[in-house]
Amino acid sequence: MVKRIAIFGSTGSIGTQALEVIEANADKFSAEILTAYTNDKLLVEQALKFNPNIVVITDERKYEVVKDALSNTQIKVFAGEKALNEVALMDSYDLMLAAIVGYAGFQPTLNAIEIGKPVALANKETLVVAGDIVMQKAFEKKVPVIPVDSEHSAIFQCLIGEGRNKIEKIILTASGGPFLGKKPNFLVNVKRDHALQHPNWTMGAKITIDSATLMNKGLEMIEAKWLFSLHPDQIQVMIHPQSIIHSMVQFEDGSIKAQMGLPDMKLPIQYALAFPQRLPNTFPRYDFKKPSTLTFEEPDLRTFRNLLLATDALYKGGNMPCILNAANEIAVFAFLRNKIGFLDITALVEKTMEKIDFIETPTLDEYLESDAEAREYAASLIQL
Ligand code: NAD
Ligand code: MG
Repeated sequence: MVKRIAIFGSTGSIGTQALEVIEANADKFSAEILTAYTNDKLLVEQALKFNPNIVVITDERKYEVVKDALSNTQIKVFAGEKALNEVALMDSYDLMLAAIVGYAGFQPTLNAIEIGKPVALANKETLVVAGDIVMQKAFEKKVPVIPVDSEHSAIFQCLIGEGRNKIEKIILTASGGPFLGKKPNFLVNVKRDHALQHPNWTMGAKITIDSATLMNKGLEMIEAKWLFSLHPDQIQVMIHPQSIIHSMVQFEDGSIKAQMGLPDMKLPIQYALAFPQRLPNTFPRYDFKKPSTLTFEEPDLRTFRNLLLATDALYKGGNMPCILNAANEIAVFAFLRNKIGFLDITALVEKTMEKIDFIETPTLDEYLESDAEAREYAASLIQL
């Protein structure tokens, strides 16, 4: 049976790679729903190629162009944020690939879980915003949440066959990003275009900046806590600049399992779409015969203070990760527009975490309010 995939965020880095996986496995997958924020051209191109049942363009000003371009097809076209959320509630798909970036991906993902649809989760922010609510809902609805993030996919794969064996700890590997080894006196002058050059991965702009500031690894610690029901003490971050070991699990007997491979997001995407199956492919293989050294070092927390802030939020829990995430989204957005400097990202997040009221066990509404308040406050700190 062909698995009908709803790709939320089909025009992004993850979304386009997922479509390559679908194209290469057309007997196994079809694209049922495609959604984009503003990139009407690519959405139309994808729609004409993959013939989905539904497309959504979130930016309503683009509705007419998309509608016109697809007028000779059976494809249904919707626009706006409300439509995005409603389409997630439709029964016509089998699995959602949550590949929207940031908080915008939260509600559609929660909606998919609400109606019992398995989720392949790339959008880590969803778990950072309200991981307890998302995972509780997934538990209630018996919905698998399969990680797409390479580190979490690695851990997920290491846990296959381990049943109830206890995890002693997980070791999340981090490339260290383009500024590994640099100090604040260098980082203070870093500009957007430099920060957008990641050594090992080609990704969307937001996650590329998060990788350069190490906030990405912080968000991933929080993501791991919820995906694998871990205590913060069980989560260790190690810098591994070659990105060959994608993460590791250490069990109670001291045995460590790692998942390895060349850095290529199509692998975890394909794994999540096909789970529990593995599919053959022609992706390049890691070759042990080629000279290479795998190295590991501790992150420089004095320089990359975002990782400290995220660790604080991880331990504190409640709405603190949600606040951290909201402030970070505002800060990264401002940095990408050259409104603030690289180190200001951390300052903005820190100030926002200090300012917004802490709530230990927020309701969903309180999470959403915390997000809005944190955004507003963080934005108010930026000189426009
Ligand atoms: P991207 O910026 O390349 O793509 C984002 C997608 O989301 C696009 O399709 C865009 O149209 C859509 N989108 C953006 N803002 C939106 C909004 N307000 N409303 C509706 N749609 C919106 O991002 P990406 O690199 O593909 O990352 C997507 C998610 O996957 C992120 O949460 C990221 O952290 C995670 N992730 C990405 C990678 C990677 O290699 N790119 C790896 C691990 C995890
Ligand atoms: Mg990752």
